[in-house]
Amino acid sequence: MPLLCKVCNARRFPIAFPELRDALWLCEKCKNFVNIKDEFVREWTEEEIKQTKLKLESFNNDITIGKTPQIKRRGGVN
Ligand SMILES: [Zn+2]
Repeated sequence: MPLLCKVCNARRFPIAFPELRDALWLCEKCKNFVNIKDEFVREWTEEEIKQTKLKLESFNNDITIGKTPQIKRRGGVN
């Protein structure tokens, strides 16, 4: 698995996409994705960077408020 970036040696993170069977591996420094075979797939888009930051911020807010951590279900699912 492409756990480390070949370019900058940073840790890659698996990101799941609903439309893809396998997760893509993101390097936050190089801002790109590789697949499970460590082949370049595409750049990390500005839109995705924004969304990831928003998610991280709300996640951190939940922790500081002291809510019990739980996976939020999307409205309309189940
Ligand atoms: Zn990298």
